[in-house]
Amino acid sequence: MSHRILVTDEIDREGVALLRAVPEFEVDELPTLPAAELLERIDQYDAIVGRSATRMTDALLRRATRLRVVGRAGVGVDNIALDTATELGIAVINAPAGNTVAVAELFFGGVISLLRHLTQADVSMHEGRWERSELLGTELRGKTLGIVGLGRIGGEVAHRAHAFGMDVHAYDPYVSDERFAALRVKRARTLGEVLAVADFLTVHVPLTDETTGMIDAAALQQLRHGAVVVNMARGGIVDDDALRAAIDRGQVGGAVLDAYAKEPLTGDHPFRPYANVVLTPHIGASSAEAQRNVAVDACEAVRDALLRGDLSRSLNGALAGEDAATLGPALWLARRAATVARALLAELGGTAIDSLTLRTGDDLTASAGALLAAAAAGTLEGVVEAERLNLINARSLATARGIVLATGGGGGFAPHSRAIEVRLVAGALSMRVGGVAALDTPPRLTRIGDFHVDVAPRGTLLVLSNHDVPGVIGRVGTTLADAGVNIAEYHQARLAAGGDALAVITIDGAPPAHVRDTLTALRDVSSATLVRFGSDP
Ligand code: NAD
Repeated sequence: MSHRILVTDEIDREGVALLRAVPEFEVDELPTLPAAELLERIDQYDAIVGRSATRMTDALLRRATRLRVVGRAGVGVDNIALDTATELGIAVINAPAGNTVAVAELFFGGVISLLRHLTQADVSMHEGRWERSELLGTELRGKTLGIVGLGRIGGEVAHRAHAFGMDVHAYDPYVSDERFAALRVKRARTLGEVLAVADFLTVHVPLTDETTGMIDAAALQQLRHGAVVVNMARGGIVDDDALRAAIDRGQVGGAVLDAYAKEPLTGDHPFRPYANVVLTPHIGASSAEAQRNVAVDACEAVRDALLRGDLSRSLNGALAGEDAATLGPALWLARRAATVARALLAELGGTAIDSLTLRTGDDLTASAGALLAAAAAGTLEGVVEAERLNLINARSLATARGIVLATGGGGGFAPHSRAIEVRLVAGALSMRVGGVAALDTPPRLTRIGDFHVDVAPRGTLLVLSNHDVPGVIGRVGTTLADAGVNIAEYHQARLAAGGDALAVITIDGAPPAHVRDTLTALRDVSSATLVRFGSDP
């Protein structure tokens, strides 16, 4: 059977060649089309491969009656109506790796450009001047680099920083001591610790609830006088207004920015006049090699999806060969159970996970591998960028971070033939969360730590530990009502009368930021953990 593929947005030749080499494929290569023209033509294609310029809107996907696969040569899928694609059974495939080195190299390009005034030097030479005295620079050698986020890019930056003779410190509570040791990076236990020592502070974290505004006025205040701030990750991690104020008062000596809260930058962006701020238009991944890598990755995955029905690299597809109807709810539950376990462990102080163990009831034993992948994905949710995490890469991403994955163990685990239990260990701390993905009812969480519970992990979950004394439930309910929070389910569990108790509450939407603190301030409530899940299917 032949397939028609539309390749657009100037995908690298090597990727297109991969598709052209398949006799069953008819490939049309076109420049980025105006939306109306694409809408006219889209119903002729089985697959489309593009970059960010082509917007795959809800209307476009609904018109695309033959379309089975959308390939994105790059990471971000903000230009694709993912929910519509999922609803219509169209697989969306992206290329999450391949640009790591490009960003790491740009880091040094940007920083050295700032330190040696390369832009000013170049402009003055092109304008016919020879001005050496104003161009006295500084060196990287002997300076301290503070990295926030020691993942792929953070790791490559660290590696290269050693070659420049820098002392490298990093803050990343989610990676193991082994990775720090392997990269010869000194571990900062808190953000404050890395801020206090950095001459250069660079963020390489995803944009999540935790990292939004992470480098705010208070954080910048803790930097050494004259430190340089670099954001090549995502706009919004560094607070732009606070950064500008810190530069104006000299606390921050300069900045290098490649990512912005609102892109593209238009008009008189406040940073434009600053000579000590190097600005680049989100070109971290814009190297020929990175573009080739992502084009080849995306085209290979689209080819395999069309030829073999292999959706293993799809962001929204189920695991190839698995029975989506019966396994889907179990995968969903395993992922959410792990997310809950991670949040509860973090509340106790355990953020660097050492191991994840999954146990299942008899009917799910054959799918333990897939369920383990789902649990690994849940463990990494909110830590790794959503676009980079799928059921296929979750296990290898987790293992690469030093998390030991295992199934089974412990014995005697048979509360239900379709039960799932996730156990996470971080140092001396551990947490287990389990549930049942029955065939006839929606999946429920049935165990948190030693407590038996019964709740659907949807929307936002609030887990409170409290003393089992009269009045607590009322006070919690009143506090939530006062904050305008609507309770969907409230489950109270206890081990013995008058002892420790656990309340598991699901709420609609996201509660106001102060709610957690208000709850922990209540008499007899000792902790409150909020878990916000992604969108529900
Ligand atoms: P990664 O997932 O490999 O690494 C991210 C690291 O951040 C992880 O180790 C994670 O543990 C850590 N982290 C998460 N939350 C944290 C927190 N609250 N505090 C401290 N550490 C935290 O990702 P990556 O591939 O290295 O990408 C890093 C960033 O770079 C992402 O935001 C990505 O979007 C961005 N990026 C930008 C460009 C560009 O063109 N400028 C290109 C590629 C990637």
